[in-house]
Amino acid sequence: MTLSDRILQISESNTTRLMGIVNQLKAEGKQIVSFNAGEPDFDAPEPITAATIKALQEGKTKYGAVPGEPWLRAAIAEKVTKENGIPAKPENVLVANGSKQVLYNVFQALCNPGDEVIVFKPYWVTFPEGIRLAGGVPVFVDTVEHQPDINLIREAITPKTKAILVNSPNNPTGAVYSREALFEIGKLAVEKQIYVISDEAYEGLVYDGEKHISLASLDPSFEPWVLTTQTFSKSYCMTGFRVGYLIAPKDVFKSINNLHSHLTGNVCTFAQYGALAALEMDPAIMQSMQETFQRRLDLAYPLCAELFDTVKPKGAFYLFPNVEKYLGDQFKDDDALTEYLLQEAQVAVVSGSSFGAPGHLRISFSTGEEAIKEGFARIKAALQK
Ligand code: GLU
Repeated sequence: MTLSDRILQISESNTTRLMGIVNQLKAEGKQIVSFNAGEPDFDAPEPITAATIKALQEGKTKYGAVPGEPWLRAAIAEKVTKENGIPAKPENVLVANGSKQVLYNVFQALCNPGDEVIVFKPYWVTFPEGIRLAGGVPVFVDTVEHQPDINLIREAITPKTKAILVNSPNNPTGAVYSREALFEIGKLAVEKQIYVISDEAYEGLVYDGEKHISLASLDPSFEPWVLTTQTFSKSYCMTGFRVGYLIAPKDVFKSINNLHSHLTGNVCTFAQYGALAALEMDPAIMQSMQETFQRRLDLAYPLCAELFDTVKPKGAFYLFPNVEKYLGDQFKDDDALTEYLLQEAQVAVVSGSSFGAPGHLRISFSTGEEAIKEGFARIKAALQK
Protein backbone atom coordinates (compact mmCIF):
# COMPACT_ATOMS: atom_id res chain seq x y z
CA MET A 1 0.00 0.00 0.00
CA THR A 2 1.36 3.42 -0.84
CA LEU A 3 0.12 6.73 0.38
CA SER A 4 -0.67 9.66 -1.86
CA ASP A 5 2.12 11.77 -3.34
CA ARG A 6 0.23 14.72 -1.94
CA ILE A 7 0.56 13.58 1.65
CA LEU A 8 4.08 12.22 1.28
CA GLN A 9 5.44 15.58 0.19
CA ILE A 10 4.56 17.31 3.46
CA SER A 11 6.30 16.91 6.79
CA GLU A 12 5.08 17.34 10.35
CA SER A 13 4.79 20.87 11.75
CA ASN A 14 7.98 21.48 13.71
CA THR A 15 6.26 23.92 16.06
CA THR A 16 3.54 21.51 17.10
CA ARG A 17 6.03 18.60 17.19
CA LEU A 18 8.19 20.52 19.64
CA MET A 19 5.17 21.47 21.75
CA GLY A 20 4.50 17.73 22.14
CA ILE A 21 8.11 17.00 23.12
CA VAL A 22 8.21 19.85 25.65
CA ASN A 23 4.91 18.83 27.24
CA GLN A 24 6.19 15.27 27.55
CA LEU A 25 9.47 16.41 29.15
CA LYS A 26 7.54 18.61 31.59
CA ALA A 27 5.26 15.69 32.46
CA GLU A 28 8.40 13.71 33.28
CA GLY A 29 9.34 16.42 35.77
CA LYS A 30 12.00 18.27 33.72
CA GLN A 31 12.22 22.00 34.45
CA ILE A 32 12.05 23.14 30.85
CA VAL A 33 11.95 26.85 30.02
CA SER A 34 9.51 27.01 27.10
CA PHE A 35 10.85 29.59 24.69
CA ASN A 36 9.21 27.53 21.95
CA ALA A 37 5.61 28.39 22.83
CA GLY A 38 3.58 29.83 19.97
CA GLU A 39 0.69 30.81 22.21
CA PRO A 40 -0.02 33.29 25.01
CA ASP A 41 0.69 31.69 28.39
CA PHE A 42 -2.47 33.30 29.87
CA ASP A 43 -5.71 31.42 30.25
CA ALA A 44 -8.66 32.70 28.24
CA PRO A 45 -10.19 35.66 30.14
CA GLU A 46 -13.13 34.94 32.45
CA PRO A 47 -15.91 36.55 30.34
CA ILE A 48 -14.94 34.19 27.51
CA THR A 49 -14.94 31.02 29.60
CA ALA A 50 -18.14 32.10 31.42
CA ALA A 51 -19.98 32.60 28.11
CA THR A 52 -18.74 29.25 26.84
CA ILE A 53 -19.82 27.40 29.99
CA LYS A 54 -23.22 29.11 29.85
CA ALA A 55 -23.63 28.07 26.21
CA LEU A 56 -22.83 24.47 27.11
CA GLN A 57 -25.25 24.53 30.02
CA GLU A 58 -27.94 25.95 27.76
CA GLY A 59 -27.51 23.07 25.33
CA LYS A 60 -25.69 24.89 22.54
CA THR A 61 -24.22 21.57 21.56
CA LYS A 62 -25.79 20.90 18.17
CA TYR A 63 -24.68 21.55 14.61
CA GLY A 64 -24.71 25.20 13.70
CA ALA A 65 -24.63 27.29 10.53
CA VAL A 66 -21.75 26.22 8.25
CA PRO A 67 -20.05 29.63 7.85
CA GLY A 68 -20.49 30.46 11.56
CA GLU A 69 -23.40 31.62 13.69
CA PRO A 70 -25.05 34.72 12.13
CA TRP A 71 -24.60 36.82 15.29
CA LEU A 72 -20.88 36.00 15.42
CA ARG A 73 -20.39 36.82 11.74
CA ALA A 74 -22.23 40.11 12.29
CA ALA A 75 -20.07 40.95 15.33
CA ILE A 76 -16.87 40.09 13.42
CA ALA A 77 -17.97 42.23 10.45
CA GLU A 78 -18.59 45.13 12.82
CA LYS A 79 -15.24 44.62 14.55
CA VAL A 80 -13.17 44.52 11.35
CA THR A 81 -15.04 47.49 9.90
CA LYS A 82 -14.50 49.63 13.03
CA GLU A 83 -11.12 48.42 14.25
CA ASN A 84 -9.36 47.30 11.09
CA GLY A 85 -10.97 49.67 8.60
CA ILE A 86 -12.01 46.75 6.37
CA PRO A 87 -15.55 47.45 5.15
CA ALA A 88 -16.98 43.98 5.74
CA LYS A 89 -20.53 42.66 5.84
CA PRO A 90 -21.55 39.45 7.61
CA GLU A 91 -21.70 37.77 4.17
CA ASN A 92 -17.95 38.32 3.82
CA VAL A 93 -17.13 36.49 7.06
CA LEU A 94 -16.44 32.76 7.32
CA VAL A 95 -15.69 31.28 10.74
CA ALA A 96 -13.30 28.30 10.69
CA ASN A 97 -11.25 26.13 13.03
CA GLY A 98 -8.44 28.58 13.68
CA SER A 99 -6.58 30.48 10.99
CA LYS A 100 -4.86 27.20 10.06
CA GLN A 101 -8.12 25.98 8.56
CA VAL A 102 -8.89 29.37 7.08
CA LEU A 103 -5.57 29.22 5.22
CA TYR A 104 -6.11 25.62 4.18
CA ASN A 105 -9.49 26.56 2.71
CA VAL A 106 -8.02 29.58 0.95
CA PHE A 107 -5.17 27.63 -0.68
CA GLN A 108 -7.62 24.94 -1.81
CA ALA A 109 -9.89 27.58 -3.29
CA LEU A 110 -7.16 29.50 -5.13
CA CYS A 111 -4.65 26.96 -6.42
CA ASN A 112 -4.80 24.91 -9.58
CA PRO A 113 -1.95 22.42 -9.91
CA GLY A 114 1.29 24.33 -10.39
CA ASP A 115 -0.11 27.72 -9.39
CA GLU A 116 2.41 29.77 -7.45
CA VAL A 117 1.95 31.55 -4.14
CA ILE A 118 4.63 34.02 -3.09
CA VAL A 119 5.76 33.40 0.48
CA PHE A 120 8.25 35.66 2.27
CA LYS A 121 11.19 34.10 4.07
CA PRO A 122 11.30 33.43 6.98
CA TYR A 123 7.80 31.96 6.92
CA TRP A 124 5.50 30.21 9.35
CA VAL A 125 5.97 26.43 9.03
CA THR A 126 2.42 25.76 7.85
CA PHE A 127 2.37 28.13 4.85
CA PRO A 128 4.38 26.03 2.36
CA GLU A 129 2.74 22.77 3.38
CA GLY A 130 -0.77 24.19 3.07
CA ILE A 131 0.04 25.49 -0.41
CA ARG A 132 1.58 22.15 -1.47
CA LEU A 133 -1.44 20.23 -0.19
CA ALA A 134 -3.57 22.31 -2.53
CA GLY A 135 -1.32 21.43 -5.49
CA GLY A 136 0.25 24.88 -5.46
CA VAL A 137 3.92 25.83 -5.42
CA PRO A 138 5.30 28.09 -2.71
CA VAL A 139 7.73 30.58 -4.26
CA PHE A 140 10.02 31.94 -1.57
CA VAL A 141 11.05 35.57 -1.62
CA ASP A 142 13.67 36.98 0.75
CA THR A 143 12.95 39.85 3.10
CA VAL A 144 15.42 42.59 4.02
CA GLU A 145 15.89 43.06 7.76
CA HIS A 146 12.65 41.07 8.03
CA GLN A 147 10.74 43.60 5.86
CA PRO A 148 9.26 42.80 2.43
CA ASP A 149 11.04 44.25 -0.59
CA ILE A 150 8.68 45.24 -3.38
CA ASN A 151 11.33 44.79 -6.08
CA LEU A 152 12.09 41.23 -5.00
CA ILE A 153 8.36 40.49 -4.95
CA ARG A 154 7.85 41.96 -8.42
CA GLU A 155 10.74 39.89 -9.78
CA ALA A 156 9.18 36.69 -8.41
CA ILE A 157 5.84 37.18 -10.19
CA THR A 158 5.24 34.88 -13.16
CA PRO A 159 2.14 34.07 -15.24
CA LYS A 160 1.54 31.24 -12.73
CA THR A 161 1.41 33.53 -9.69
CA LYS A 162 -1.94 33.31 -7.96
CA ALA A 163 -1.32 35.11 -4.70
CA ILE A 164 1.10 36.89 -2.39
CA LEU A 165 0.97 35.73 1.22
CA VAL A 166 1.59 38.47 3.76
CA ASN A 167 1.93 37.89 7.51
CA SER A 168 2.19 40.98 9.68
CA PRO A 169 2.80 41.00 12.64
CA ASN A 170 5.07 38.21 11.57
CA ASN A 171 5.65 34.74 12.87
CA PRO A 172 8.57 33.95 13.31
CA THR A 173 10.34 37.34 13.15
CA GLY A 174 7.98 39.64 15.07
CA ALA A 175 8.32 42.20 12.25
CA VAL A 176 5.42 44.59 11.62
CA TYR A 177 5.27 45.70 8.00
CA SER A 178 5.07 49.40 7.24
CA ARG A 179 1.97 51.04 5.75
CA GLU A 180 4.02 51.87 2.65
CA ALA A 181 5.16 48.27 2.15
CA LEU A 182 1.62 46.94 2.58
CA PHE A 183 0.22 49.56 0.20
CA GLU A 184 2.85 48.71 -2.44
CA ILE A 185 1.99 45.02 -2.18
CA GLY A 186 -1.73 45.77 -2.54
CA LYS A 187 -1.09 47.98 -5.58
CA LEU A 188 1.06 45.29 -7.19
CA ALA A 189 -1.67 42.69 -6.63
CA VAL A 190 -4.30 44.91 -8.27
CA GLU A 191 -1.95 45.63 -11.18
CA LYS A 192 -1.21 41.93 -11.72
CA GLN A 193 -4.78 40.78 -10.87
CA ILE A 194 -3.58 38.37 -8.21
CA TYR A 195 -4.76 37.83 -4.65
CA VAL A 196 -3.15 38.92 -1.41
CA ILE A 197 -3.69 36.60 1.54
CA SER A 198 -3.15 38.74 4.61
CA ASP A 199 -2.60 36.64 7.72
CA GLU A 200 -3.07 38.98 10.68
CA ALA A 201 -3.17 36.41 13.47
CA TYR A 202 -1.02 38.54 15.81
CA GLU A 203 -2.88 41.83 15.28
CA GLY A 204 -3.47 42.34 19.00
CA LEU A 205 0.22 42.12 19.87
CA VAL A 206 2.22 45.19 18.78
CA TYR A 207 4.81 47.16 20.77
CA ASP A 208 6.61 50.44 21.19
CA GLY A 209 3.70 52.51 19.88
CA GLU A 210 3.48 50.51 16.65
CA LYS A 211 0.02 50.21 15.06
CA HIS A 212 -1.31 47.12 13.34
CA ILE A 213 -2.45 47.91 9.80
CA SER A 214 -4.80 45.70 7.81
CA LEU A 215 -3.71 45.62 4.19
CA ALA A 216 -7.32 45.39 2.98
CA SER A 217 -8.11 48.75 4.61
CA LEU A 218 -5.57 50.72 2.60
CA ASP A 219 -7.43 51.31 -0.64
CA PRO A 220 -10.94 50.52 -1.94
CA SER A 221 -9.39 49.02 -5.10
CA PHE A 222 -7.86 46.24 -2.97
CA GLU A 223 -11.26 44.92 -1.89
CA PRO A 224 -11.76 42.24 -4.63
CA TRP A 225 -8.22 40.95 -4.22
CA VAL A 226 -7.50 40.75 -0.49
CA LEU A 227 -8.40 37.79 1.69
CA THR A 228 -7.80 38.62 5.35
CA THR A 229 -7.30 35.75 7.77
CA GLN A 230 -7.71 36.26 11.49
CA THR A 231 -8.00 34.28 14.66
CA PHE A 232 -9.16 34.60 18.25
CA SER A 233 -6.22 32.41 19.30
CA LYS A 234 -3.44 34.88 20.05
CA SER A 235 -5.16 38.22 20.65
CA TYR A 236 -7.71 36.75 23.08
CA CYS A 237 -5.71 33.79 24.51
CA MET A 238 -8.11 31.31 22.92
CA THR A 239 -5.73 28.92 21.16
CA GLY A 240 -7.60 25.80 22.27
CA PHE A 241 -11.00 27.13 21.18
CA ARG A 242 -9.96 26.84 17.51
CA VAL A 243 -11.89 29.83 16.23
CA GLY A 244 -10.50 31.83 13.34
CA TYR A 245 -12.12 33.67 10.47
CA LEU A 246 -11.76 34.84 6.92
CA ILE A 247 -12.84 38.14 5.42
CA ALA A 248 -13.27 37.57 1.70
CA PRO A 249 -14.96 39.10 -1.33
CA LYS A 250 -18.38 37.52 -1.86
CA ASP A 251 -17.46 35.36 -4.88
CA VAL A 252 -14.46 33.83 -3.09
CA PHE A 253 -16.48 33.42 0.10
CA LYS A 254 -19.10 31.39 -1.78
CA SER A 255 -16.59 28.83 -3.11
CA ILE A 256 -14.76 28.56 0.20
CA ASN A 257 -18.05 28.02 2.00
CA ASN A 258 -18.82 25.14 -0.40
CA LEU A 259 -15.56 23.49 0.64
CA HIS A 260 -16.17 24.27 4.30
CA SER A 261 -19.59 22.58 4.17
CA HIS A 262 -17.94 19.28 3.24
CA LEU A 263 -14.71 19.62 5.17
CA THR A 264 -15.86 20.47 8.66
CA GLY A 265 -19.28 22.09 8.74
CA ASN A 266 -19.58 24.54 11.57
CA VAL A 267 -16.91 25.38 14.11
CA CYS A 268 -17.59 24.05 17.65
CA THR A 269 -20.93 25.68 18.50
CA PHE A 270 -20.26 26.65 22.11
CA ALA A 271 -16.76 27.97 21.31
CA GLN A 272 -18.46 30.58 19.12
CA TYR A 273 -20.24 31.95 22.21
CA GLY A 274 -16.81 32.38 23.79
CA ALA A 275 -15.64 34.19 20.65
CA LEU A 276 -18.60 36.58 20.81
CA ALA A 277 -17.81 37.31 24.47
CA ALA A 278 -14.21 38.09 23.44
CA LEU A 279 -15.43 40.76 21.03
CA GLU A 280 -17.84 42.20 23.60
CA MET A 281 -15.63 42.19 26.71
CA ASP A 282 -13.90 45.22 28.20
CA PRO A 283 -10.89 45.99 25.94
CA ALA A 284 -8.90 46.83 29.10
CA ILE A 285 -8.53 43.08 29.69
CA MET A 286 -6.53 42.58 26.52
CA GLN A 287 -4.79 45.92 26.95
CA SER A 288 -3.31 44.69 30.19
CA MET A 289 -2.08 41.50 28.50
CA GLN A 290 -0.45 43.60 25.81
CA GLU A 291 1.29 45.72 28.48
CA THR A 292 2.61 42.53 30.07
CA PHE A 293 4.02 41.45 26.72
CA GLN A 294 5.63 44.87 26.26
CA ARG A 295 7.42 44.45 29.61
CA ARG A 296 8.54 40.98 28.59
CA LEU A 297 9.89 42.27 25.30
CA ASP A 298 11.76 45.05 27.13
CA LEU A 299 13.30 42.41 29.37
CA ALA A 300 13.98 39.72 26.75
CA TYR A 301 15.34 41.83 23.89
CA PRO A 302 18.51 43.12 25.62
CA LEU A 303 19.20 39.66 27.07
CA CYS A 304 18.91 38.18 23.60
CA ALA A 305 20.89 40.95 21.89
CA GLU A 306 23.72 40.43 24.38
CA LEU A 307 24.16 36.89 23.05
CA PHE A 308 23.03 37.06 19.44
CA ASP A 309 22.62 39.48 16.57
CA THR A 310 18.92 40.41 17.00
CA VAL A 311 16.51 42.72 15.16
CA LYS A 312 14.09 44.18 17.73
CA PRO A 313 10.60 42.83 17.00
CA LYS A 314 7.62 45.19 16.82
CA GLY A 315 4.91 42.59 17.21
CA ALA A 316 3.85 38.99 17.97
CA PHE A 317 5.93 37.49 20.81
CA TYR A 318 9.01 36.20 19.05
CA LEU A 319 12.65 37.17 18.87
CA PHE A 320 14.41 35.79 15.81
CA PRO A 321 18.16 36.19 16.35
CA ASN A 322 20.90 35.27 13.92
CA VAL A 323 23.06 32.66 15.69
CA GLU A 324 25.57 31.97 12.90
CA LYS A 325 28.52 33.04 15.03
CA TYR A 326 27.94 29.98 17.23
CA LEU A 327 27.71 27.54 14.33
CA GLY A 328 30.67 25.58 13.02
CA ASP A 329 32.62 22.82 14.74
CA GLN A 330 30.54 22.31 17.86
CA PHE A 331 27.10 22.86 16.32
CA LYS A 332 26.88 22.16 12.64
CA ASP A 333 23.62 24.08 12.25
CA ASP A 334 20.75 25.74 14.09
CA ASP A 335 18.98 22.38 14.51
CA ALA A 336 22.03 21.04 16.35
CA LEU A 337 22.16 24.16 18.52
CA THR A 338 18.44 23.86 19.28
CA GLU A 339 18.93 20.23 20.32
CA TYR A 340 21.92 21.17 22.50
CA LEU A 341 19.99 23.95 24.26
CA LEU A 342 17.14 21.56 24.99
CA GLN A 343 19.41 18.82 26.35
CA GLU A 344 22.09 20.91 28.06
CA ALA A 345 20.19 24.02 29.21
CA GLN A 346 16.68 22.58 29.20
CA VAL A 347 15.54 25.57 27.20
CA ALA A 348 13.22 24.87 24.27
CA VAL A 349 13.54 27.12 21.22
CA VAL A 350 12.61 26.49 17.58
CA SER A 351 15.32 26.32 14.91
CA GLY A 352 15.28 28.94 12.18
CA SER A 353 15.52 26.15 9.58
CA SER A 354 11.94 25.22 10.47
CA PHE A 355 10.94 28.62 9.07
CA GLY A 356 13.22 28.56 6.03
CA ALA A 357 15.88 30.65 7.76
CA PRO A 358 18.87 28.49 8.74
CA GLY A 359 21.28 30.15 11.17
CA HIS A 360 18.50 31.58 13.33
CA LEU A 361 16.48 30.63 16.40
CA ARG A 362 12.89 31.52 17.24
CA ILE A 363 12.67 32.51 20.87
CA SER A 364 9.18 33.11 22.23
CA PHE A 365 8.82 35.54 25.12
CA SER A 366 5.34 34.29 25.89
CA THR A 367 6.38 33.25 29.35
CA GLY A 368 6.80 34.92 32.75
CA GLU A 369 9.59 37.41 33.51
CA GLU A 370 11.41 35.02 35.87
CA ALA A 371 11.39 32.32 33.20
CA ILE A 372 12.74 34.81 30.65
CA LYS A 373 15.66 35.70 32.94
CA GLU A 374 16.28 32.06 33.81
CA GLY A 375 16.09 30.93 30.18
CA PHE A 376 18.62 33.45 28.89
CA ALA A 377 20.95 32.78 31.84
CA ARG A 378 20.84 29.08 31.02
CA ILE A 379 21.46 29.71 27.31
CA LYS A 380 24.41 31.95 28.17
CA ALA A 381 25.93 29.39 30.51
CA ALA A 382 25.45 26.57 28.00
CA LEU A 383 27.09 28.59 25.22
CA GLN A 384 30.09 29.35 27.43
CA LYS A 385 30.80 25.66 28.08
N1 GLU B 1 1.32 29.17 15.53
C1 GLU B 1 2.05 28.75 16.68
C2 GLU B 1 3.54 28.61 16.38
O1 GLU B 1 4.00 29.03 15.36
C3 GLU B 1 1.45 27.50 17.27
C4 GLU B 1 1.85 26.21 16.65
C5 GLU B 1 1.48 26.14 15.21
O2 GLU B 1 0.30 26.06 14.93
O3 GLU B 1 2.40 26.27 14.39
O4 GLU B 1 4.25 28.12 17.23
